[in-house]
Amino acid sequence: MPATTPTTVPPLISGGIMLTYHCTNTCRHCLYRCSSRHEKHFMSEALIDATMGALAKEPTLHGIHMAGGEATLNYKRLIYAIRSARRAGISIDYLETNASWCADKQTARDGFTRLREAGLRAVLISVSLFHNEFIPLAKTKTGIRAAVDVFGSQGVVVWTPEVLQQMDAHLDEHRTHSLEESCESLGLDLRQGDVWKMHNYLTPGGRAAERLVDGLLTRPAESFQGDACGRVLENTTHFHIDPFGNLYTGRCPGISVADVGDLHPTISTTKHPVYCQLAEGGPVWLWRGLAPDFVPNPKGYVSKCHLCLDVRKHLRANGQYEELRPDEYYRE
Ligand code: SF4
Ligand code: SF4
Repeated sequence: MPATTPTTVPPLISGGIMLTYHCTNTCRHCLYRCSSRHEKHFMSEALIDATMGALAKEPTLHGIHMAGGEATLNYKRLIYAIRSARRAGISIDYLETNASWCADKQTARDGFTRLREAGLRAVLISVSLFHNEFIPLAKTKTGIRAAVDVFGSQGVVVWTPEVLQQMDAHLDEHRTHSLEESCESLGLDLRQGDVWKMHNYLTPGGRAAERLVDGLLTRPAESFQGDACGRVLENTTHFHIDPFGNLYTGRCPGISVADVGDLHPTISTTKHPVYCQLAEGGPVWLWRGLAPDFVPNPKGYVSKCHLCLDVRKHLRANGQYEELRPDEYYRE
């Protein structure tokens, strides 16, 4: 193995516990490819406890956030997870929610109060044109107001306020809008990639790389040659653990060399060929090394992560790579 290949996963710093891949939405920008079409599978109580137990042993862990899919779809399990983290002495930074359940202020307030009583201290409420294809803005605003009542303004993060402001000014809050419709109301050109400028935090991977590439500059697959991913894959400041216990590092869902049973396995080219190829040379090495029969899209790719996902899908369709998991992530 070349000397630069990491030998194990570095200590974990901060990350999300994905209680499910199931969601009320199937947002076009979802990096984790969550969907309303996925099974309503939630992390089991036993796995939650095992996860918290494993995280409690991490010497550099700052905190975690609770996430999905939409974690509130199983309130009982979410509350279990909050309590389990507290039992294990793990700090929960916030719960991420899309506020789809905030039909009226009382419902929202009751829901947030139950979570606060379980030990939650903050929430992050997502708002975007992508979410608005499924959730009317009125629910989002109801959720924000109720969350401020329960957690205080310091305990509520709106992701993002700038987007909320623009949507509030131009969209009917009582109904959903297709992305095409909202773009028209906001004077955005979807075909020119304007939604990327409005939501400037988007990552060009996952479903965004598949569904939102119009108007973005593309490059031939070969041009990503030499763009290695070792540093990203070693980054544990925004890790995720999925409902099956798989660990993702970097911002690389669908690639997992570790799980809750062993968060720091020895990484080797024989056992983890995909990870090692990516760490050493990026997606072009992955293609050349493990998928020489892969035919890149002649239209090109908006990012190396876009190419990476395409090569990985090809690998999964043609071979057995334990690291490319779980099925949910790769399912259409
Ligand atoms: S971005 Fe959030 S709300 Fe949208 S599909 Fe993904 S998990 Fe669900
Ligand atoms: S190209 Fe693949 S491995 Fe590299 S950062 Fe993107 S998703 Fe992660």
